[in-house]
Amino acid sequence: MAKNLLRELISGDWRDPDTGEIVTLPVREILIEPGLTQNTGELLEKHRAEKFLLVCDETTYEIQGRAIEGSIKKKGWQVAVKIFPSDAEPTAENAERIKIKKHAANAEMIIASGSGTINDLCKYSSFFLKIPYVVFATAPSMNGYASANASIKIGRYKKSIPAHMPAAIYLDLDILAGAPARLIKSGVGDLLCRMTAQADWLVSHLVLGSEYKTAPFVLLEENERQLHELAPELLNGNLEAMRILAEGLILSGIGMYITGSSAPASQGEHLIAHYMEMLHPELPKTFHGEQIGVTTLTMQDIQETLLKTKISVGDYVVDEERILLKLGTEIGMQAVRQARAKAEKYENMQAREKMNDEWKSISGKILPLLAGKEKIYDTLKKIGAATTPGDLGWSRHYPHASANAFLLRDRFTFLDIVHVMRG
Ligand SMILES: [Zn+2]
Repeated sequence: MAKNLLRELISGDWRDPDTGEIVTLPVREILIEPGLTQNTGELLEKHRAEKFLLVCDETTYEIQGRAIEGSIKKKGWQVAVKIFPSDAEPTAENAERIKIKKHAANAEMIIASGSGTINDLCKYSSFFLKIPYVVFATAPSMNGYASANASIKIGRYKKSIPAHMPAAIYLDLDILAGAPARLIKSGVGDLLCRMTAQADWLVSHLVLGSEYKTAPFVLLEENERQLHELAPELLNGNLEAMRILAEGLILSGIGMYITGSSAPASQGEHLIAHYMEMLHPELPKTFHGEQIGVTTLTMQDIQETLLKTKISVGDYVVDEERILLKLGTEIGMQAVRQARAKAEKYENMQAREKMNDEWKSISGKILPLLAGKEKIYDTLKKIGAATTPGDLGWSRHYPHASANAFLLRDRFTFLDIVHVMRG
């Protein structure tokens, strides 16, 4: 069923359930099949380019890039190759290196062979070069393939920068099934935050009147059911299970594209993870989706506890001195601005009165979203993914992160409700 969903989306036959309007995507083709890499030449024919820049890292070149390069050369086309070290980061400087190489090769299209970093770098640099890019995914590790935003590190921190969607996304199931287990688990973690993100987004809508859409969640409904069912098979090389995971990650990206924001796939659970990454870069490196699996379980607990209680909230206090002390000047100043904006909205929308008087009705609308929440823990456990802060080496700083993560963004989530309950 979900297979048809993707086809409907690409061919412009899918209607947004919120508006009734046809959704159009700038991506020409999304294929999730075994054996795609060997046929790169045929796949690229429809893009009408003959000069390519292939971007990989040392690992992805070995597992996929070399075959892509060979397949293009067989067609008699030109291909220049840029290979980054395997631990390269998605920095603005690295994006610059792609631009220089592109100019030298006079390429008409960029081909990304990789996952998070390589995809972000190519999305970002091709957007600024005003040429299309296509991505050959090497791991089902995150939901950014179909998104139009690039996550780029500028200075010390990652920023989500508006860019463009790839012209095509090729997910070769043979390659994905061979990806390291941790990257596969990471993809599951990043997808399963759907539930907590939806609850956070809906509470912000009901309390502060922010925009809310159901389309991203309608897209994922069937896929999520299948993912829970087949997840235990993911690490056995089962291609059908892998197809479901890959499809979910693509649909999640499309949900963000339709919304024009990461809101449907990134709320309180992402804020806690960002907080840990930003404030504690000294801790051992873990993958994004591994973190999100853990923080999703935390958000579920917070949400469920608050939704099942009669809450009493106060004003939205912004204690500038305390924020700067906790977060330092650089992150702190931005946090103060964002907290002030949230406080103003909270005041203007009479959010305090609304929550104190109408919580029963508000929670009645959100609580059904948490139905079957135990499945998330069960699925993460079944695939041997991290489920506790301790599994990530995060125990010591974690309580602090959940208490202060609301400061990192202008999004209003259940983490803000915990804050106003203290105020
Ligand atoms: Zn994510």
